[in-house]
Amino acid sequence: MGETLGAHVFRAKQIAGDFEARFGERPRIFHAPGRVNLIGEHTDYNEGYVMPAAIELGTFVAASPRTDRRLAVHSMQFDESCEIEIDAARPRGDWTDYVAGVAVMLERAGFRIGGANLLIASDVPLGAGLSSSAALEVAVAMALAPGPVEAPALIERRTLAKLCQRAENEFVGVQCGIMDQFIACHARAGNLLMLDCRSLEYAYVRLPGGVKLVIANTMVRHDLAASEYNKRRAECAMAAAYFGKSLRDVKLSDVDGAAMPDLLRRRARHVVTENARVLEARAALERGDLRAFGNAMYRSHASLRDDYEVSCAELDALVAMARDLRGVHGSRMTGGGFGGCTISLVEERHLDEARRALMRVAEVYVSSPAGAAVEIMDF
Ligand code: ADP
Ligand code: MG
Repeated sequence: MGETLGAHVFRAKQIAGDFEARFGERPRIFHAPGRVNLIGEHTDYNEGYVMPAAIELGTFVAASPRTDRRLAVHSMQFDESCEIEIDAARPRGDWTDYVAGVAVMLERAGFRIGGANLLIASDVPLGAGLSSSAALEVAVAMALAPGPVEAPALIERRTLAKLCQRAENEFVGVQCGIMDQFIACHARAGNLLMLDCRSLEYAYVRLPGGVKLVIANTMVRHDLAASEYNKRRAECAMAAAYFGKSLRDVKLSDVDGAAMPDLLRRRARHVVTENARVLEARAALERGDLRAFGNAMYRSHASLRDDYEVSCAELDALVAMARDLRGVHGSRMTGGGFGGCTISLVEERHLDEARRALMRVAEVYVSSPAGAAVEIMDF
């Protein structure tokens, strides 16, 4: 934790320098984390359970106020700048929509924001399923929000998360659930967050010391990803309509006995068994049983591959590889699928070995569960 904050301050100093060179002023700097989902995949839009953790990769937004009602924005990742009129913002179909969308939704929620110069610098790989989008939204929202958005004000953080989700749903036009924005706003270092996507009730579950989150990025994202995601949502809606209730409330015995097309049955079975696996994983973690937790991860992967059909050869190969490594408790694809990343839970004493093996075929990031979005002070 201390180490992470130290690294953040170091990066913040650099970014402040870049900001001053570009805008000629000293900025305030905000940081929001990316995230990885340990278990509970494709359950969020079915009012189910998820269990993500924030990671040590995140997005920095440096900001200074302007006297007009414009946002002058520069992204280091795209090496592009843009100007947004807060009162006339329309979607353009590019990265600037994430920034404009947050500004628009803040205003719509009744927060009066002012113009700002913004510099965006991120360590999260874009489009890899580690939620660079929510990290960007939340860091921008904190930078633009009037007044302090501080850790103890949980109600404010929940509002912030919802508002950022709305920006992505309604302005960017991506039908994401609430998980990514919620974890960016509520994460606690050293903990996974168990979230009920229906009630937004949540609980922290401590990850025992001596284990690391090891993320392996396939570096592929198959073209199918977006269209298949929409298809799965539609299939789940059809299955729910068949049962006359949310898949969250469907029992496995209902699924097995249902006279419905096999494809819909398998989709429903994934959601129903995945929710059960999240509860099981939580209980396992609470009694310190990493083996049982890891086992639930492996079964989650199999279900995503066989019943939900959102895995791909690259993801399957990485999970199979992790499974054969020493010190790996569990491994699975994480995120929407068809590329992106796997997440493995690895004993620290076998970390180098595991990392070296996975690095031969993937880009690897190692993290402990990180903390929530913050303003970085004293840089
Ligand atoms: P993920 O959230 O898994 O990384 P998404 O497709 O949801 O993938 O979001 C990625 C998009 O978010 C990028 O294509 C870009 O439009 C926007 N984005 C994220 N980070 C940045 C950044 N640092 N600068 C500009 N745009 C960004
Ligand atoms: Mg995203």
